[in-house]
Amino acid sequence: MNKIKMLYEGKGKKLYSTEKKGILIAEFKDDLTAFNAEKKGSESGKGELNCKISSFLFEMLEKKGFKTHYIKRIDSQNILCKQVKIIPIEVVTRNVATGSLTKRLGIKEGTILPFALVEFYYKDDALGDPIINDDHCKLLGIIQNCEELDFLRSQAKQINSVLKDFFDSKNLKLIDFKLEFGRDTEGNIVLADEISPDSCRFWDKDTNEKLDKDRFRQDLGNLKLAYQEVLNRIMA
Ligand code: UDP
Repeated sequence: MNKIKMLYEGKGKKLYSTEKKGILIAEFKDDLTAFNAEKKGSESGKGELNCKISSFLFEMLEKKGFKTHYIKRIDSQNILCKQVKIIPIEVVTRNVATGSLTKRLGIKEGTILPFALVEFYYKDDALGDPIINDDHCKLLGIIQNCEELDFLRSQAKQINSVLKDFFDSKNLKLIDFKLEFGRDTEGNIVLADEISPDSCRFWDKDTNEKLDKDRFRQDLGNLKLAYQEVLNRIMA
């Protein structure tokens, strides 16, 4: 399968059409953005690491029965995936308080949450991805019925259970992560986008060292070493 035409360029990936209708190639970029793209950077080799980490995790979730857009990894920086219409909701699941949750609600950084908290954010850069509730989703017409939101919530919780246990076995704490879903040609809602240290927070279980994009957000340095460490651990 070859790249025919670039259809879309996002912050972390480029999407290309292929010879086959409905099948796309997603190329993972080295670019880094944070704070609604106010902070920009690039780290050579980051795209490859994310591509490998995300592919590994999507393969794991597919094996567990989750429906996703993922088909296969074709080389170190590109995957083959099904074309879907992305639902403009960022589904964030949190196990430990940090980031925007601590700022918004004053919950102390590092507090272990008594249950997995699922939040919806409206994927709209111009509005700064505001947090939204079920009624906002209905109002904006981004879901067809309430059952769809219940499905997203339940998928997020189930995926969290799988990933949390898996990362725990690799001596990593899954602090929080963001998922995106899309509709396939038959209208089914499937997991899409990526799962990588760009979209998740991982802390080392013993030292709480941050092994994710917070290294870029907070200028901690050694970003690639951290992403490589995540890849090494999940492959081990
Ligand atoms: N996240 C993401 N993309 C976004 C916003 C958040 O991948 O546009 C991820 C982020 O990496 C973290 C989780 O979602 O794992 C929760 O992020 P938070 O709301 O704390 O945002 P931030 O601190 O980045 O403002």
